[in-house]
Amino acid sequence: CWFQARQTELKLSDWFHPTQIVELVKKNLTITEWSAPIMWHDTYDESVLKKYYADHNITVGLIVFAVGRYLERYLGRFLISAEKFFMSGQKVIIYVMTDNFSAVPWVYLGRHHTFKIFQIGREKRWQDVSMMRMKTIRDHIVDHIQYEVDFLFCMDVDQVFRSSYGVETLGESVAQLHNFWFWAVPHMFPYERNNLSEAYMPKGKGDFYYHAAVFGGTPIQVLNIVRECTKGIMNDKKNNIEAVWHDESHLNKYFFLHKPTKILSPEYCWDYLHGMPPYIKNVRLSWNFKSYRPLRES
Ligand code: UDP
Ligand code: MN
Repeated sequence: CWFQARQTELKLSDWFHPTQIVELVKKNLTITEWSAPIMWHDTYDESVLKKYYADHNITVGLIVFAVGRYLERYLGRFLISAEKFFMSGQKVIIYVMTDNFSAVPWVYLGRHHTFKIFQIGREKRWQDVSMMRMKTIRDHIVDHIQYEVDFLFCMDVDQVFRSSYGVETLGESVAQLHNFWFWAVPHMFPYERNNLSEAYMPKGKGDFYYHAAVFGGTPIQVLNIVRECTKGIMNDKKNNIEAVWHDESHLNKYFFLHKPTKILSPEYCWDYLHGMPPYIKNVRLSWNFKSYRPLRES
């Protein structure tokens, strides 16, 4: 669980000196073996992107789930910060999936941003709320989102945008490096190790450990991602198996088999628990504070 992860993390960070981590970042992490760019603050030219998107009208979707206590606790800050920093200047549709329509906070939106709110059922266990997002996203892309946006992001609600999160992040299929693990090597990653699970990853295999709190791409690619993850999750359920990190384990399996075309550095999903190491210059999105017990006990 979360505690174990934190403890492992603390141990792991003892294994490398910070300067070694910087070396790892510099050496390996601006492009992948399969030539996908890894976006850091200094890896792209904003003026070029601006010029390109001035002539190319696009709409970007952003799906977020706020169910149970997460609604009151996180949705307001997420939306207010998204309005300020997410794809500013582009047309944006934010899809809010919630079990309590009437409790969605009133948030001022500029003329480029639109809300669509959908009522969804509530799963009993938080693990199921998290996993069943994959199925709900799948159904909504098929029903309408594929006709409404050019690019789509799916994000956890327990986060806050901190600075410009712009068109540099757009791609066919986009994955987020997990800020606990981005400098580690595959045998350390907390992949699912039960070979009966659909999310199974053999020891030593793998490219990166991706964070399920952010993924995206074109609607068709996102549909492929969530369709496969849903299949994996449902098959595991049939066999009474639950992958160690739930939907995230299945997402990691998917991105191992189908490499993402763009990867976001941990600046795009940072946890201030790590402070601000020198290679983190521009935090775009960060984890919001979480008190696990009261949030998850029902
Ligand atoms: N979620 C929710 N209500 C719940 C559990 C989860 O709305 O009771 C949604 C919410 O968007 C949350 C995401 O599912 O950000 C993933 O769960 P969580 O953030 O708790 O997972 P973690 O980031 O701790 O792995
Ligand atoms: Mn989260």
